[in-house]
Amino acid sequence: MDATVGAGEVRYTAAVAVAADGVRSTIRPQLGVPVRAKDYPDRYLMGDFADTTGYGPDAALFLESEGIVESFPLPGNLRRWVVRLAASGSGGDARWLGHRIRERTGIDVDPASNSMLSSFGVRSRLAGRMVAGRTVLIGDAAHEISPIGGQGMNLGWLDAAALAPVVLASLHGSHVGTALRTFERGRMAAAARAARQSEINMALGRPLPAGPWSVRNGALAAAASVPAVNGFVARRFTMQ
Ligand SMILES: Cc1cc2nc3c(=O)[nH]c(=O)nc-3n(C[C@H](O)[C@H](O)[C@H](O)COP(=O)(O)OP(=O)(O)OC[C@H]3O[C@@H](n4cnc5c(N)ncnc54)[C@H](O)[C@@H]3O)c2cc1C
Repeated sequence: MDATVGAGEVRYTAAVAVAADGVRSTIRPQLGVPVRAKDYPDRYLMGDFADTTGYGPDAALFLESEGIVESFPLPGNLRRWVVRLAASGSGGDARWLGHRIRERTGIDVDPASNSMLSSFGVRSRLAGRMVAGRTVLIGDAAHEISPIGGQGMNLGWLDAAALAPVVLASLHGSHVGTALRTFERGRMAAAARAARQSEINMALGRPLPAGPWSVRNGALAAAASVPAVNGFVARRFTMQ
């Protein structure tokens, strides 16, 4: 990278510039890259508690009539719980969350052990391009997706891994226009796939009246009794 100092400004030139400046990217609008925006009706309350489940390293998903409960192991014998809120609900404190977990899953968590509590809504923002000239958008600057499925940060890391050889080649003086187009095609397709999958996961986690809920869960249980289907569903739900 070279820098030149002019009147009141420093101008840098580089073979490739990477913008990883998050969903409120300053660079993206400056490049004139359009964004496809979606806001979803889903809201969740998330909290970390001491792990009393005995699930060890396993995640657990409870597809309940009142809405999904997700449970993930964390380091330090903690467990993260994510509860789908009712359409108009804004949730409550750690005790309130503990009651919802108990109601829906039968599992007791100790509100006194709560170390993090956060409620969040869901949206997605997919950039229409990741490459503009020799500037590349990666991470949430290129694709914010629903946290349900837990893939947003992973997508960003995979962008960086796919881009690294292109940046290296550019540093060795290679012309990387074609490599950037290939990068863009692959990573935009991956982001679109992850966004679709997280939409399916959110839809599965929405509240359902008792009748349709029991039909749906019966069908899922029947499918899950076939090991190949079980593996497929687990992979889809964990977005592998
Ligand atoms: C509730 C919630 C739960 C989530 N759970 C998961 C999960 O379980 N798994 C998962 O993979 N993902 C998860 N995600 C998504 C994940 O947090 C994001 O995808 C990830 O943080 C995006 O990383 P990023 O580096 O692209 O953007 P950011 O984390 O937003 O980082 C961008 C950085 O750029 C800096 N910046 C911006 N403008 C400038 C500038 N002009 N100059 C210098 N610096 C600048 C910002 O300060 C910031 O530090 C979750 C998201 C939410 C909201």
